[in-house]
Amino acid sequence: MVKKIGLFWLKCDFRLNKNQALFEATKNHDRVVAFYLYKKKKFENQEAQKWWVAKSLEEFEIKLNYYNIKLEVIDTNSYKLFFEKLFKKKNFSIYWNKTYEPNYLKFDQYLIKNCESKKIEYKILKGNILNEPDYVKKTDGTPFKVFTPYWRNAEKSYLEKIPSKEKKVLKCKEKISFLNNKMKIKDIYPKNNWFKKFEKYWSPSEEKALKELKYFVNNKIDNYSNARNFPNIIGTSKLSPFITHGQIHVETIWEECIKSKKKNISKFLAEIGWREFNHSLINHFPHMVKGNYSKKFDKFPWEKKSEFLLAWKKGLTGYPIVDAGMRELNSTGWMHNRVRMIVGSFLVKHLLINWTEGEKYFKNSLLDYNEANNISGWQWVAGSGADAAPYFRIFNPILQGEKFDKEGEYVKKWIPELKNVPKKFIHKPWELKNDNLLKLGKEYPFPIVIHEKARIKALNAFKKI
Ligand SMILES: Cc1cc2nc3c(=O)[nH]c(=O)nc-3n(C[C@H](O)[C@H](O)[C@H](O)COP(=O)(O)OP(=O)(O)OC[C@H]3O[C@@H](n4cnc5c(N)ncnc54)[C@H](O)[C@@H]3O)c2cc1C
Repeated sequence: MVKKIGLFWLKCDFRLNKNQALFEATKNHDRVVAFYLYKKKKFENQEAQKWWVAKSLEEFEIKLNYYNIKLEVIDTNSYKLFFEKLFKKKNFSIYWNKTYEPNYLKFDQYLIKNCESKKIEYKILKGNILNEPDYVKKTDGTPFKVFTPYWRNAEKSYLEKIPSKEKKVLKCKEKISFLNNKMKIKDIYPKNNWFKKFEKYWSPSEEKALKELKYFVNNKIDNYSNARNFPNIIGTSKLSPFITHGQIHVETIWEECIKSKKKNISKFLAEIGWREFNHSLINHFPHMVKGNYSKKFDKFPWEKKSEFLLAWKKGLTGYPIVDAGMRELNSTGWMHNRVRMIVGSFLVKHLLINWTEGEKYFKNSLLDYNEANNISGWQWVAGSGADAAPYFRIFNPILQGEKFDKEGEYVKKWIPELKNVPKKFIHKPWELKNDNLLKLGKEYPFPIVIHEKARIKALNAFKKI
């Protein structure tokens, strides 16, 4: 054991299992301190995330305490400033897991350079991913731009490697303070009360993630490829916020699926594959984090209609499936994938609003917000992404509703105003024309655009690029 203090930089790795950096720190040091850097500016437009992060910190602090690891939460405006001060202390070694976003990976280079020049011991370890973005490439060394060949190769290369063994954090001899910063976790919670609703739906912890995973694999995975399309049932794992914040490692998900010996695991694992693919994309093509992957979309004639954007955000567009999705998001911090595609398509195609507006709103509202998935998801919907849905394929929100929420159960759950509307009209309440069942325009809005007209307008706009 070395005398120096082991520092663990906690980012989105709120777990003890498969947390390689934390494992290495406890293996090599008698005294370990974990620190979380809370950058207010970063969270300014990520309100929902503040709730999950604060909850996770509270929960993880208790766990770390058991291992004699002190958690220090530090309020900082700049990672660089923090590390400049830290480097003056010298009597420590530092450990962290990679976060696969271009800014973080760039910052890793800065840290490595400084640690080496200042002779500070460091270890940088694999983060929450199966294959690191650089690992899966075409035979000519260039990155994949299309999902299917990417995943074929990624799956194979992952299977050929021996995945990291379960490495459990070890108990430290002594608990100490090192950084001694005063920031309280409770100050991270969003100031408005909106987040309180989340308590009803989520409890962020590693145990909960594992329990949900096991339940899903034992009871749901067999029917996943069909059930995943229907928002009125729980047909997906709902693990995304736990994965985003690292309460569970994707290798654990992989192993649990294999261990189950169930036949139908490949569709589910392919979705984990989409997450991997998206991480690969944003790291190989970092310009897509700031704008269109496909440059021709820079000329797209987007419209700026703030009243339409507001109606979309509030779930008041007059299209039930769109509004139900937005209300699910506003109430729970999560939205079903099928509905994410529908609301996204409606924003960029029916309302001709730039996908970046939708991306911003999701970033602020999603508990599972993740740069790679959100940027790629939005560019997939808009048609500006690498392996995207073509712009001219425009979802019809009425037909989507009728196909994927046939009985209108999902819509009625999130839009109680429509509870008396018969099934036949649930996705087009304007055709009902019965004031006793629904006072359209008063209880629920008229559609803000007419589908057929909006479709033609969108196709004409697309022709301009
Ligand atoms: C416009 C748009 C924005 C999105 N933004 C995000 C985001 O910020 N964060 C996020 O995690 N996902 C995002 N997604 C992808 C997807 O909607 C969610 O991952 C999924 O709904 C999460 O639910 P689940 O955990 O039940 O998924 P499951 O179906 O159970 O899938 C298991 C896991 O696979 C991954 N996954 C599933 N579907 C996708 C997908 N289409 N693309 C990439 N990874 C996927 C997720 O990590 C998910 O938790 C977005 C999709 C769209 C269309």
